[in-house]
Parts: sequence; C-alpha cells; structure tokens
Amino acid sequence: MNTTNPSRRDFVRALGAAAIAAPFVGIAGAQEPGKKLGVALVGLGSLSTKQIAPALAKSSKLCKLVAIVTGTPAKADKWMADYGLPKTHVYNYETFDQLATNPDVDIIYVVLPNSMHAEYTIRAAKAGKHVLCEKPMATSAADCQRMIDACKAADRLLAIGYRCQFEPHHRECRRLASEKVFGAVKYVEAGFGFKIGDPAQWRLRKGLAGGGALMDVGIYALQAARFLVGEEPIAISALETKTDPVKFAEVDETIVWTMRFPGGVVAKCSTSYNFNGENRFRAYAEKGWFELDPAYSYAGNSGRRSDKLEIKFDAPDQFATELDDFAQRILEKKPSSVSGEEGLRDLRVIEAIYQSIATGATVKLG
Ligand code: NAD
Repeated sequence: MNTTNPSRRDFVRALGAAAIAAPFVGIAGAQEPGKKLGVALVGLGSLSTKQIAPALAKSSKLCKLVAIVTGTPAKADKWMADYGLPKTHVYNYETFDQLATNPDVDIIYVVLPNSMHAEYTIRAAKAGKHVLCEKPMATSAADCQRMIDACKAADRLLAIGYRCQFEPHHRECRRLASEKVFGAVKYVEAGFGFKIGDPAQWRLRKGLAGGGALMDVGIYALQAARFLVGEEPIAISALETKTDPVKFAEVDETIVWTMRFPGGVVAKCSTSYNFNGENRFRAYAEKGWFELDPAYSYAGNSGRRSDKLEIKFDAPDQFATELDDFAQRILEKKPSSVSGEEGLRDLRVIEAIYQSIATGATVKLG
C-alpha cells in the first residue's frame, strides 16, 4: 500500500478509539467533555435522509446533526421539525458560505451529486470547516487534487465516505489477506452493480455523475481489490458494453476490467447499472480462498472461507462508525484514515479504466 496510507494497525486503533466517547482537547481549543462535534449535511437526498441523519441521531457517539444545506424549502421545514434544528442553522446553496460564521458546525458532510463534490468541498474548507465528502471523491483526478490542496491550505481534515473501510467483514478479509492466513493472495474477483430505475435521474447524466456504474458502485469493487492485494495497480485493461444505448447514452452501463499489481497479482472486476445480484468479492490465495457475498450492503454482509468457516460479525452502523472515526481524528489532530489522497488514487484508476475503454489499449499506471 502507498506509504501515505495509515497502517492497518493505525486503522484498527482508530476504530477502537472511536468506539470510546471520551472528553477531548477540541479543534478550536478546549472541547467540553462529552460535547459532540457538529455536522452540517449538504444535500438532503436519499443517502442523507435514510442513512446519515438517522445514524447521527441514533448511533454516533462523537457527532450530531446541527445544520442542513438544501435548495428545497419544504425539506428544510420537515428536517427542522424532525431533528429540532433552528432556522438559523438552515442554509441553501447561495448562503452556504455563511457556514463559516456558525461556531456550532465543525464538519461539513457533502452528500451531493458527484460533480458537485469538488466545489462544495473547496467552499467548505474555505469556510474553515473539516470536510467529509461522499464517494466518488470527484469526477476527475484533477478535481481531487484541488480538493486536497484546498483542505491543506485551510488546515482542515478531509475524509472520503468509504464506509466499507470501517465494516468488520471487510476488515476481517483485509486481515486474512495481509496476515496471509491462506498464504499470499494471488487473484481477486470483485463486482458490484444494480439495476437502476428512473431514466431521468442525475446518476444517468454525465454532467452531474461524471460516469455511470463505475463511478457509483464499481468503485467499491475497485477499493476491495486494492485493499485485498495491498498494492496499487500498474496496468489496467477494460471493456464496456451497452445493452440499452438509449438509457445509458451518457454514462457507462456495464464495465469489466482487470488490474495487474506490481507483485504479479491480478484482479478482475465488474460493475453494472443494468442487472441485480452482483455484490461480492473473493480472494484466491496459495492455500485457499475467502469471500464476502453480499459485500457492500449497509447491513447483512457475510462471508465464507475455503476451510468452511463463516465470516460473520455483529456490524455497527457504518455511517456512525465513519463519522466517529473522522471526529476522533479531528480531535486528536491525526491524519484522516480515509484521506483525500485515497480518493485520488481511486479516481486515477477510474480514469485509466475509461481511457482503456476509449483506446482499446492496456493503460499503464504509476
Ligand atoms: P440523491 O439523488 O438521493 O440526492 C442528491 C441530493 O442532491 C438531493 O437532495 C438533491 O436535491 C441535491 N441536489 C443539489 N443540486 C442538485 C442538482 N443539480 N441535481 C440533482 N440533485 C441536486 O442522491 P444520493 O443517493 O443521496 O447520493 C448523493 C451522493 O452520495 C452521491 O455522490 C453518491 O455517490 C453518494 N452515495 C454514497 C453512498 C454510500 O454508501 N457511501 C450511498 C449512496 C450515495
């Protein structure tokens, strides 16, 4: 793994620490014992409504929802009532920058369509707030770099919403791989897709989504493969197919790609917006294999090993864990465990996948 990544030991330690709600020295001086960090949610769509806000209300030990940013006044009324937010803590996209003067807000969580991540992350950093940005980090590697630079310039932490990195089944598989429990991993298969509905949604518009299934859910398979192998890919070969060229006129429908790693390991990955059921990875090692299926769900992930043992844990809420880890990192002034550099690495691979599709050639990286 790239040396700018936190070591696995650091990662596990961070998770352990995040589980303890403790008093801290805070980001702007002394933090009151037990006081939670305030989160402003930007974009009140499906993920914010169904996952993040409930996680903040019910499960997070270190964060709480204190502000919202929405362009829809009717949503603002409902959220104020549901979460007890004062009118002073409701912003829209024009008043967003005024978050700078709200001392209750420590973290801005960007949950907007992909192509808006860069602008709002940069504005959030300029407002002096730490930023948690949903995946994919941005729609280009160049934008990822601008986001990293803006957060560095503002001396604010940046984290990407890679919830699976906090998921116990994923962590166990990473342990099986890094500790070579079945010997060295030789080959990885990973795939994630779903049948997308409404043809009018932003996920099918290139200008807002940046790409199709790959940007949205293929990125989970990409992350799983990179972390199971423990190296960065050096050669990418990809092909795309469209069975519905009308619905998928602007973005990719189904992509299959391979990644070759420096040590010779190969990963074969796939993603689609046009069929259900693929939500898995399997790592083949010298003396056996291990897999998760389902692998990337919000809950209910489970796995198996070639020695017939099950991989099954009680899993805490992934969004609460992710938020609490970020808060812990902020409070302890430590680097983010899911850094902007990590998001940038994925965007570089995604760009290489699209380049390989466009040229029909294998693309070299690194
Ligand atoms: P959504 O369509 O349900 O919500 C998007 C929100 O953005 C809406 O509230 C919408 O009003 C707002 N918005 C502002 N400007 C907009 C514009 N110009 N066009 C369209 N919408 C606009 O989407 P979502 O499923 O909540 O996804 C939001 C982000 O979260 C995406 O980047 C997605 O990749 C990510 N996501 C991550 C996970 C995860 O498990 N980590 C899961 C789902 C989505």
